[in-house]
Amino acid sequence: MGKRWLGLLSAGLLAVGVLVPAAPAMAAPTFKVPFPCGQSWSGQTRSGHSPAYAVDFNRTNDLGDPVVASAPGTVDRVTDLGGTSYGKYVRINHGGGYSTYYAHLNGFNVSVGQTVGYGKVIGWVGSTGGSTGPHLHYEQRLNGADIQVRFNGALALYWGTKNYSSDNGCGSGAGSGTVNTSGTPLTVRSGPGTGYAAVGTVADGTRVTIQCQTSGTSVTGTYGTSTIWDRIGSGRFIADAYVHTGYDGYIPNVPRC
Ligand SMILES: [Zn+2]
Repeated sequence: MGKRWLGLLSAGLLAVGVLVPAAPAMAAPTFKVPFPCGQSWSGQTRSGHSPAYAVDFNRTNDLGDPVVASAPGTVDRVTDLGGTSYGKYVRINHGGGYSTYYAHLNGFNVSVGQTVGYGKVIGWVGSTGGSTGPHLHYEQRLNGADIQVRFNGALALYWGTKNYSSDNGCGSGAGSGTVNTSGTPLTVRSGPGTGYAAVGTVADGTRVTIQCQTSGTSVTGTYGTSTIWDRIGSGRFIADAYVHTGYDGYIPNVPRC
């Protein structure tokens, strides 16, 4: 979790006396090119596209190539519209009002409710729906409205065709954080939840290596309330609400367990 939670929480408590801190405005997720690490794809934007800011991706012999999640999130649509519109498409909810769409897929590799991270294969390039040839139709939306696509914060080319190189899922895979409990040792659990067996403790101030992160029991800790659990060893999980990682939410490039 990030440090700013602490400030917001304290401010909320001082001002109101009790209660629920205001939900902080979330920064845009760091979106990455929706293809595996190292691949280069031609992305086309055009003013006649629907919606206008969508990007159509192609490369040679792309039918059946894997499509990956462009940021961590939860799959909230896996839909087949048949021979019209998007055809087979996936939508991922990234939180903060942000979502991404992946359309004309040949097939699906995820289901609704599934948590995904960078580099997770969600389906394969196809030509389903209203498509006339294999390509990936990709959108970023905020509160349901089509927005201009950004990768690693950089605006896509509007309008025209450009090559985009993927660094999606390239990371070493491990993250780190510092336990902050204001004194009490933090309980280590055998799984991602308070219902799992206690298998040890880590002292306040301990620097931990985070192998992967997953969703589990909701815990309220030093950095607010979170369902994220950090795996710090084999069969060893700690609640992310007590760990300063520099991020409010999942750490970019750290995989889901
Ligand atoms: Zn399109």
